[in-house]
Amino acid sequence: MNDQIGALFVQVAYIGASAAFILGLRGLTKPGTARRGMQLAAFGMLLAIIGTLLNHEIITYEFIIIGLVVGTAIGLPMGLLVPMTAMPQRVAISHMFGALAVTLVGIAEFLHYRDIPGGPGAVKMVALGFETLFGALTITGSFMAFGKLQGILPGRPITFFGQKFVNAAIFFGAVALYVTLVVTQSGGATDAAADLGVPMFFAMTALALIIGITLVLPIGGADMPVVVSLLNSYAGLAASATGFAIGNNILIVAGALDGASGFILSILMSRAMNRSFANVLFGAFGGEKVAVAGKSAEGLTTRSVTPEEAAMRLGYARNVIIVPGYGMAVAQAQHAVRELAELIEHRGGRVRFAIHPVAGRMPGHMNVLLAEANVPYDHLFDLDEINGEFAACDVALVLGANDVTNPAAKSDPGSPIYGMPILNVADAEQVIVVKRGMATGFAGIENELFYLDKTSMLFGDAKSVLGQVVSEVKGL
Ligand code: NDP
Repeated sequence: MNDQIGALFVQVAYIGASAAFILGLRGLTKPGTARRGMQLAAFGMLLAIIGTLLNHEIITYEFIIIGLVVGTAIGLPMGLLVPMTAMPQRVAISHMFGALAVTLVGIAEFLHYRDIPGGPGAVKMVALGFETLFGALTITGSFMAFGKLQGILPGRPITFFGQKFVNAAIFFGAVALYVTLVVTQSGGATDAAADLGVPMFFAMTALALIIGITLVLPIGGADMPVVVSLLNSYAGLAASATGFAIGNNILIVAGALDGASGFILSILMSRAMNRSFANVLFGAFGGEKVAVAGKSAEGLTTRSVTPEEAAMRLGYARNVIIVPGYGMAVAQAQHAVRELAELIEHRGGRVRFAIHPVAGRMPGHMNVLLAEANVPYDHLFDLDEINGEFAACDVALVLGANDVTNPAAKSDPGSPIYGMPILNVADAEQVIVVKRGMATGFAGIENELFYLDKTSMLFGDAKSVLGQVVSEVKGL
């Protein structure tokens, strides 16, 4: 009876957690409710953990406590110390840990069923195989994405002759092993076939680990945001399959939510970057992209301005569009730019922020930083809304952004970012670019915008330079 009440309590906790996850995701759809959405989702996770810890099938808590202590010791500093600018690599490595857990559970379950007469049965074997296949490829895929984003591996696509065929062979080999496992290991198989189960299972896992590497290596740095969100989706699908394999409802729900939302986000981001989703999805199985260095800037010259001159132009401008990018995040210049925007508005100018979908290093990076600095949401405009407005603006202030403003995306078919929609900064009457030097952005290519006659470079760290501009504008 006690067990029954306990089981009921666990299921109630799981239903509460599922509702909190769904409402949390709903909250995340609008900037105004995003914070509450996150808190609700975190509360849901607490309920799910409590429910799981009360499960009567738990024999001993020793290993669980050790796991909680080790996990907290790794997770807490990661959450507190890793800067926002390194968030994509942090997310990638978190997916790797999640996928590792899923894969280990899959392997343990598979070996556990070896001792049970009749084996796992067809449905469980489908789930177990899927879980391990997707889990294993997500481990190495996420680790490769982490390496590229952290700069440990080169950001350019790594390709070799015949890659498509090698990848296809590995992929179909893993799928063939998966199907064979489902057929031979779901009970009713001959002893000989069942005996081959363990080596086949480990061979499938090993091939899946290789697929993760070959899937991400040929994808260039500019497409990495989509890859990270796709790996998020894979980790979710693998977790959902784990739920089916071990009969855990919350894993099924949470995994499905994660898998579906990651998949939708990947498609939306591909569209925003004008990338073929199929190419990102299948890595080198689709059209291979050869790395092209982009045009060189040799012989071109730039014009620079001082903070005083920039303050004059901005202080007297009627219509200003600010384009924030990764450099704003590095410099933590969001508060300074909010102050500058307020000053211009007090002087009668209009200020809007143009937000590119992949500015910074994670989806929504700029929105989060500007919200933290209390920039009103109605001052933030998406690429489609603002792109037609640059032609009517007096000054476009590019703040540590580079790739998202690069005209080569429209004009140079040889450029690695060709086809990505960009902010039409070059249409503005004047452009002021704040950055420390002439270094390239994430895609590693030159930006012709910096060499246009209408462009003035304001060199320096975004926060300190804006601080000087702000005090100059105050003195006007
Ligand atoms: P970029 O990475 O293209 O450029 C940032 C620029 O900021 C650099 O050229 C750098 O120049 C400058 N900078 C760096 N530090 C400072 C500082 N302290 N003060 C002032 N400037 C600074 O940024 P964008 O936002 O334009 O583009 C994002 C890129 O990142 C895209 O290629 C995108 O595909 C990619 N990406 C996006 C992800 C996402 O989800 N949003 C995830 C992963 C990658 P200098 O060193 O000369 O100062």
